Amino acid sequence: MPPSSIAIIGGGIAGLSSAFYLSRRFPQAAITLFEKSSREGGWINSRRVDVKDGHGNRAQMLLEAGPRTLRSNSGAVLELINLLDLRSSLITTPKTSPAAKHQFLQIPGRPGLTRLPSSLFSLLSLPYASSALVPSILLEAVRPSNKPKGQDDESLGAFLTRRFGAKFERLFGSALVHGIYAADSRMLSTKAAFPMLLEAEKRGNGSLVWGMLRGREKVGLFAGYDVGEVRTLVDNASIFSFFDGMESIPKALKSYLNTAQNVTIKTGVDVNGLRPTTNSEDIEVILGNGETLNASHVVSAIPLPELSKLTSSAPADVLPHLKANPLSSVTVINVVFPPSTRPIHPLGFGYLVPRPAGGYAVPSSGFLGTVFDSCALAAQDTGASGFTKLTVMLGGPHLLTQAHTRMENVLAQLQHHLAPINHLQKGARLPWPVYYEATEHKACIPLLTVGHVGRMNEMKAALKGGPWKGRLEVVGAGVGGVSVGDCVEAGRNVGKDW
Ligand SMILES: Cc1cc2nc3c(=O)[nH]c(=O)nc-3n(C[C@H](O)[C@H](O)[C@H](O)COP(=O)(O)OP(=O)(O)OC[C@H]3O[C@@H](n4cnc5c(N)ncnc54)[C@H](O)[C@@H]3O)c2cc1C
Repeated sequence: MPPSSIAIIGGGIAGLSSAFYLSRRFPQAAITLFEKSSREGGWINSRRVDVKDGHGNRAQMLLEAGPRTLRSNSGAVLELINLLDLRSSLITTPKTSPAAKHQFLQIPGRPGLTRLPSSLFSLLSLPYASSALVPSILLEAVRPSNKPKGQDDESLGAFLTRRFGAKFERLFGSALVHGIYAADSRMLSTKAAFPMLLEAEKRGNGSLVWGMLRGREKVGLFAGYDVGEVRTLVDNASIFSFFDGMESIPKALKSYLNTAQNVTIKTGVDVNGLRPTTNSEDIEVILGNGETLNASHVVSAIPLPELSKLTSSAPADVLPHLKANPLSSVTVINVVFPPSTRPIHPLGFGYLVPRPAGGYAVPSSGFLGTVFDSCALAAQDTGASGFTKLTVMLGGPHLLTQAHTRMENVLAQLQHHLAPINHLQKGARLPWPVYYEATEHKACIPLLTVGHVGRMNEMKAALKGGPWKGRLEVVGAGVGGVSVGDCVEAGRNVGKDW
């Protein structure tokens, strides 16, 4: 029997995407989405601020507190952009632009930035030839396959150490994981977070370098997705966003859902219990205000530890592994500098900061990385040109104190990182920002620890059988991947077996 009534819990991108696709797949079903806060979008949060300097220059800067960019490899996101008609507001960063080609590392304890190679060819040039990079990569290419037999999963840290050595893992692997997961690479599951590396290892008969040189089969990447001309628009883009930022997607989803006959969005309403009913196949949804309603099917699009609270009333209904993964916390600091004759930072996407040699227990700047937003997405800003916006990310596995996020300290760190590589004259200081804002995101990114894929398969099996009878589906960042693309893809697939 197709669903007659569907309750969706959570109005982040996973919940909104679920509502969008379910409303089209089951036009006869009454769909209600419950979001406990007053706004939809979850971690996606874009805003425009007015800034001015002491010389009368004014601008309106688009700032992101959460995700800021998308990649063109997600068919689900491209399809959503096409179906929601967001094409005209797309802003792309061409693959040939400095923001696409130049990335940097800030190695703790050293001033300045180290540029990362943009291609295998540039790897052969100095200064890389003398760095940890080249020997590790050359050795990897000739190292025999060393994947432990029968091992189902390992941390990204263990994987990269096994193939490239410990120094490479700390400098490059840990920095990469800081940039995407705000986490410790030694805890993150390779299978869950970087399955493409395992595929490359297989393609290269044990060598990641050979596997990557052989390349991935790209044919049919978007087969089955209604991407229209969006594919052409983002084809040559390394990353993209929208004129009004990432929140353009949840806002467009909300507008679509508000006009759909079969969908109701209830903000400011939290769900605090879920129970399979005993006398029917329905699921009882208990709201924070004490009301209850029965739904024939339910989608949970909230963090897994939250769902565990909702299902904890009857031991038989408890789902396994909901509390297995910790969540990382991140402080995002948006900074806008006034126009200046000297550039604030080198041209590029930004820089990442690897794990300190002494680990996370040693005192550190707390920096995970900094994004040079003006370089990649300047077209989002209007008014006077010349203002520079960047975003500093702190926290994750680092222990943060309030002192870490004070602007004086952040500026001192930026000075240490940016001054030597920049054209700043000796002794010159970075200007005081015309705008800055720190946002603390507690428990915002699930850390998919080793064994995650196996645990999620067990959870899905428990949902199919037992008291839930396949009528509860669980999606969101904590299940199948944390990127916006992963969350939209999950929403697109929800209810396919109903
Ligand atoms: C700082 C930061 C930067 C990021 N950068 C990028 C990026 O550049 N690119 C990218 O692709 N991804 C990025 N991500 C990841 C991505 O943004 C998130 O993983 C994704 O938005 C999560 O969406 P979600 O719907 O699963 O969860 P959420 O956004 O957490 O939404 C869940 C919603 O459920 C609601 N809720 C919770 N409990 C209840 C309840 N009991 N009843 C009702 N409602 C409830 C919450 O209020 C929330 O609105 C970033 C994440 C962060 C935090």
